[in-house]
Amino acid sequence: MSQKPIYVTQPYLPPLEEFLPYLQKVWDSKFLTNSGPMHQQFERALAEYLGVPQVALFSNATLALVTALQALRITGEVITTPYSFVATAHSLLWNGIKPVFVDVDPVNFNLDPAKVEAAITPQTTAIMPVHCYGHPCDVDAIQRIADTYNLKVIYDAAHAFGVDCHCGSVLNHGDLSILSFHATKVFNTFEGGAIICKDAKTKLRIDQLKNFGFVDETTVVAPGINGKMSEFNAALGLVQLQHVDEALRQRALVDAHYRATLADVPGITCVPAGPAQRQNHSYFPILVTPEYGLTRDELYARLRQHNIFARRYFYPLISSFPMYRALPSAAPANLPIATRAAEQVLCLPIYPGLTPDEQDEIVSLIRTQGR
Ligand SMILES: *Cc1c(COP(=O)(O)O)cnc(C)c1O
Repeated sequence: MSQKPIYVTQPYLPPLEEFLPYLQKVWDSKFLTNSGPMHQQFERALAEYLGVPQVALFSNATLALVTALQALRITGEVITTPYSFVATAHSLLWNGIKPVFVDVDPVNFNLDPAKVEAAITPQTTAIMPVHCYGHPCDVDAIQRIADTYNLKVIYDAAHAFGVDCHCGSVLNHGDLSILSFHATKVFNTFEGGAIICKDAKTKLRIDQLKNFGFVDETTVVAPGINGKMSEFNAALGLVQLQHVDEALRQRALVDAHYRATLADVPGITCVPAGPAQRQNHSYFPILVTPEYGLTRDELYARLRQHNIFARRYFYPLISSFPMYRALPSAAPANLPIATRAAEQVLCLPIYPGLTPDEQDEIVSLIRTQGR
């Protein structure tokens, strides 16, 4: 039995003494929010680090998703994946948009482009895919469909911080991409998020929408929301950014150790990392298939008994929650791959600082419980 509990992730924090001078500056300036100096500096630093043209910071990714849909004036129906965190589809409902669920690819569990066209109707205005586990979607195939049918593409890139595909940052694909800096993500500002966009004009509209729709002191042009990131979170982001390469390096080691030690366990399949040029190892999903002696839920429970808290990302499917399940596209028969994935996937603990000994303990438990 593990001495201390091992959770699926442990938030990454910089040394406190590195953060204190930034806090001192915030205290001295008395500038606490509303696009202050930390906010502006963090936006520039992020754009440079990520290799993207424009960054608009938010207080969290859910408000960023809601705002992204407003910024592009999306209405009607949006094609999306059931295999994600519930905020993806919730952002559509908050905009009065009907989600249309399309099944996922059997290997990487991203929205399957081959199944998108059949779901397009005259009401469809956009596609909202997710780079699940930080593994890039088939961005070229999705863009081809969007171009053919004149649809917008908004990526929920909450898992994809620092991920590069064949041509630079994966965040440069589609019309907009949304990042999350929640405590559980690879890069955190406690709470936080961002919209990545291509030009200053789009960023200006997004910045207005996240500030109640104000364009100047007395003019309001849209029913905007309050989605602003505070100076505290932006300052923390600036410090976190100095450590993110090291954090990603340590995650890569954890990933490699799991792959090496789990490779020969019957019935356990590590989800392949995919074609990313630069990965972020944000999650470590395995499939617990029938060949393994226990079901996924039995393995999950056994690990819990040993103080190891793996997570079933993503279970239940979004499409099975009460506010979605009556939609025709939510029927399990329409989503066989996602339905099976939700029954078989278990995300193992992965974070900087998870030791090889702790990993070996997890792996040996998985080994001895199987057939
Ligand atoms: C975490 C997450 C979100 C929500 O992010 P918040 O910053 O917590 O609002 C949205 N989509 C996906 C896929 C996520 O994993």
